[in-house]
Amino acid sequence: MRLRNLLLFGLLSACAATPQAPQPRRRPNIVFILADDHAVQALGAYGSTVARTPNLDRLAAEGLRFENAFCGNAICGPARASVLTGLHSHAHGVVDNAARFDGALPTFPKALDAAGYRTALVGKWHLKSEPTGFDHWEVFPDQGEYYDPVLVSPRGKRTVTGYTSEVVTDLALEWLEQQRGGDAPFLLCLNHKAPHRSWAPGPRELELYSGEELPEPATLFDDYSTRAVGAAAQEMSIARHLSEYDLKLGAPHARGEAAVAAWRRAYDEENAALARQPLEGDARTRWNYQRYAKDYLRCVAGVDASVGRVLAWLDAAGLADDTLVIYASDQGFFVGEHGWYDKRWMYEESLRLPLIIRWPGVISPGRVEERLVQNIDLAPTLCEVAGAAPLPGAHGASLLPLLEGRAPRSWRSSIYYRYFEYPEPHRVEPHYGVRTERHKLIEFPRIGARELYDLESDPHELDNLAGQSEHRVLETRLSFELARLRRAFGDA
Ligand code: CA
Repeated sequence: MRLRNLLLFGLLSACAATPQAPQPRRRPNIVFILADDHAVQALGAYGSTVARTPNLDRLAAEGLRFENAFCGNAICGPARASVLTGLHSHAHGVVDNAARFDGALPTFPKALDAAGYRTALVGKWHLKSEPTGFDHWEVFPDQGEYYDPVLVSPRGKRTVTGYTSEVVTDLALEWLEQQRGGDAPFLLCLNHKAPHRSWAPGPRELELYSGEELPEPATLFDDYSTRAVGAAAQEMSIARHLSEYDLKLGAPHARGEAAVAAWRRAYDEENAALARQPLEGDARTRWNYQRYAKDYLRCVAGVDASVGRVLAWLDAAGLADDTLVIYASDQGFFVGEHGWYDKRWMYEESLRLPLIIRWPGVISPGRVEERLVQNIDLAPTLCEVAGAAPLPGAHGASLLPLLEGRAPRSWRSSIYYRYFEYPEPHRVEPHYGVRTERHKLIEFPRIGARELYDLESDPHELDNLAGQSEHRVLETRLSFELARLRRAFGDA
């Protein structure tokens, strides 16, 4: 009764002489597109001059791009569980990719479901337990395949012919079509496999960049000599740790006659040239880099095409204005920086992720937000946007004030990171750390070492300042901040 009176009062005052009085906002539909391992350095809107991402660039031009968005643990399972729950790894329990997600934990899809949203998930899940909180779901078992992927749903298992990014988009659009005209708002989680290893491009993207020479990253031949430890011991180097499968030197990954023929057109000639004249040392590293980075960017182009299809569907359905679209990746990736592929490290390339949100009428187009945000903020944001109950004990904060362009009363000045998975699969030393707007301190507790970087003077993180007397005050201050964060999140 009270609520009805309030609504009535709101309506009356809106109809009276105050045209500028705020209207109660309609709850938006939400389309959340999550890529796998898509790094900001492979996205046009983030400054890449080689990545071809016109649809993502459009999304950024029509919405808000977060310049400083980070994960809390740069591997798939942990990052995905953080997106769902708003919690850091130690609290949701998925500390590595072997762990199983507890489907009983509170998540944003469950909160939206309880608030009356129609909810769906298609594509990559990678959390071992069955998805919860979705009216409809159909996911890849484990990592999923690039070609002719198997999909699992409550109805059982099936193989769908086609290329992963197109298959997932078809499933998403099929579900969206069924939602036309319904009263309740919807949440669609469209989770891509691409551009995850083994970076197998789709038939439409196979010949992108053919005959071109991609620019090499400045740190492709990093020798790690200034780093304390760890960086040299990893097994994720472009020079030594890519397999023949990764490099497309063996049988085609493609399935189906036409796709296999396209695959052969794309690779056979270059592969034959390498076989005739094998390369060694830096020359071979350069060859590996070109092959790997092109395949990675081809996979990104496939994801971008999917984004284009979804935006076109929203336009055609007349739903673009009523729908909040998010594009993010679970974490970043090394595309040759430090001589690497893969992720895991707290270094910028894997720590940062693309985060773009479009919400017509709320977000003014083309904005860039510089504040430090993290994947743990997404669940609290979506709950608030949807008018759903907040997730109890979430570590993240709602981004709604930033979306609306309001200055929040206070905002974090540092983010917390922790990586656990060791030694397999890539021998990346476990570490935790803190990043502020300008600095980063990383601790490697197992081997008692530290790294300290000034991101302003040393954006590539090549000059480790830890243990240097002239930086002792800074190092101490950051170590206190790291200890404070660990206590605050209950990870000490
Ligand atoms: Ca990932």
